[in-house]
Amino acid sequence: MEIVQNKINAYLASKFKVYFNMTDQKVWTLEEVTKLYHSPLLDLVYRAATVHRQNHNPNEVQISTLLSIKTGGCPEDCGYCPQAARYHTGVENEDLMSIKQVEIAAKRAKLLGSSRLCMGAAWRNVKDGKEFDQVVDMVKAVNQLDMEVCCTLGMLTEQQAQRLADAGLYAYNHNIDTSEEYYKEVISTRGYEDRLKTIDNVRKTGVTVCSGGIIGMGESIEDRCGMLLTLANLSPQPESVPINALVSVEGTPMEDIEPIPIWDMIRMVATTRIVMPHTTIRLSAGRTSMSREGQAFCFMAGAASIFAGDKLLTTPNPDIYEDLEMFDLLGLKPTDPFAKHPQPETKESEYESSKEKIKWSRPQHKIEKNIVYSKKGKETKI
Ligand code: SF4
Repeated sequence: MEIVQNKINAYLASKFKVYFNMTDQKVWTLEEVTKLYHSPLLDLVYRAATVHRQNHNPNEVQISTLLSIKTGGCPEDCGYCPQAARYHTGVENEDLMSIKQVEIAAKRAKLLGSSRLCMGAAWRNVKDGKEFDQVVDMVKAVNQLDMEVCCTLGMLTEQQAQRLADAGLYAYNHNIDTSEEYYKEVISTRGYEDRLKTIDNVRKTGVTVCSGGIIGMGESIEDRCGMLLTLANLSPQPESVPINALVSVEGTPMEDIEPIPIWDMIRMVATTRIVMPHTTIRLSAGRTSMSREGQAFCFMAGAASIFAGDKLLTTPNPDIYEDLEMFDLLGLKPTDPFAKHPQPETKESEYESSKEKIKWSRPQHKIEKNIVYSKKGKETKI
């Protein structure tokens, strides 16, 4: 009787904590994260590898495929992005794919070992209508193939997130990119708080959160740690954190930035591992300039996923057969789908067009480089 009563008390206490947001999650400070980042590299990696082994299978790495379902023509001014309509980068605009095309791509990805398909559309935010209905059907179709379905479609309301959840969405990606301070140097067409609002909208629906950023955009180490601080202090922490290295693309305001040394990537992965022990860390853009040894070091430090496919949206990516060879060499096994969370059910539900009138911000502060490259883009197109 006493045991039952204790269990009931423990259950009620845990519900109380969740309700009042009083979980036992550590609250990190910038000083702590920065100190970790700067610790001697081998100590840092050893500590990260230990945390990784306590919380994950170190010999499993998830293969995910990122599919651009609507390419280019984006109205935003992200300084790193070749899909921004205002820059001249040679990216061809492509309309939204058909459901059939997505199914074919998903089946191929699955055959080659991917357990997750992430569908990306170059939109500022999701708009209710025919195209969103089509994306909802794509989510249903891929979920039926028993793959984890992730979408990255820009900012979205809670009702839109719920529609995707009901369709069987497993994860929603919405990167915060960098620290709040440096964000203002990269993008002027939307605010950092909009990113956090979208993440919150996703969180409310039970869909898992994927949010990370890019290093090597000219930010300081404090900015990198500031980004990790924001993510690590979300409650709960994101289930997935992609760490991208900038791939500088001709025609974007960041075209002249040199690639970061591999050691920065390893430090970033290891620090992420320690501050977010349960999160899946994803090696994303920038792998083409990383050696196998460098990637192996990242896996050791806690990375547990790669993106496969010839392209990452529009930037180059290693060949899948080379990746499979690397898996063989390192004795890695691709992670099965739904290893961490159960497969969502697809529910039939009726939706009216969104009544939520969210006004996403448009800060429009001046970023000199973005303005110069927008002008260049305009001139080239004339
Ligand atoms: S990163 Fe996304 S939102 Fe920014 S310009 Fe590229 S496609 Fe648009």
